[in-house]
Amino acid sequence: MTQKNIQQKILFIAVMLFCIQCASQNPLGNGATGGGSGGTSTTQQSLVDVYFDSSITTLTIDVFYESGAQPYTGNIGLFGDTWSYTSESVNALFSEIPTRSVEVPTVLAQMTQISTQNKESWSIEDLNNLADAIFVYQQTANKVNVGIIFVKGAYAESTSILGVHPSGKPYVFIFKDIITSLGGTNQSQKQTEQAVVVHEIGHALGLVNNGVEMVDDHEDGQHPKHTQNNTCVMYWAVENKLNITDFVSGMFDQPGNLFQEEVLNDAHAYKP
Ligand SMILES: [Zn+2]
Repeated sequence: MTQKNIQQKILFIAVMLFCIQCASQNPLGNGATGGGSGGTSTTQQSLVDVYFDSSITTLTIDVFYESGAQPYTGNIGLFGDTWSYTSESVNALFSEIPTRSVEVPTVLAQMTQISTQNKESWSIEDLNNLADAIFVYQQTANKVNVGIIFVKGAYAESTSILGVHPSGKPYVFIFKDIITSLGGTNQSQKQTEQAVVVHEIGHALGLVNNGVEMVDDHEDGQHPKHTQNNTCVMYWAVENKLNITDFVSGMFDQPGNLFQEEVLNDAHAYKP
């Protein structure tokens, strides 16, 4: 592809991954620390330290979906299973822990449907209340889980937001209606959704500089908790009207891990 196309795709990541988790949900605030890990809340840090504990042998991803907001499943074009992106990406983060297994559901029967919530607009309090009602964080000596909750409606602070991770919480939210509103082909919709899922789980698991220390400073100073590497799924940029098909066709040339080198280096080096 041409450099211009690459740049367009990079910019479009902004549309997809516009995420406010670092902007307003960190109890200690952002920007107050000017780098380092000082901007990460104690709760977020302690959660991340569990996720990266080498004695944890099973990390389970629990998926919930509001009626009418079910995740995409099944084959993704010729690239295999839709959820293989989440599975391979999260597995790549923990590849330095040989005993670690990551359990990811791939079909709706392995996910949990919840009742219609009838909400057009979600505050962070609304979202946390929903999570409290449906998700149980389970941490034992060798197992832990993280939740992904698909809802209808939009985030109260911006209808452009596709997903959010409330800092310090072991779960993330995906705004299905916003993903659907992007349009595109069935395949590009699946890819978009998987990218948002991987991005938000990345935040929950400590990326970028969100509990996992950086080996080299690659945090975007303008968009904390995101990488400067604009080819990585953890990149953030402002919303931009570009063609979704251009974006997804480049980022998803083949199935697999969506995290790039800097993020993987951080994850592999982090030993709490
Ligand atoms: Zn983000």
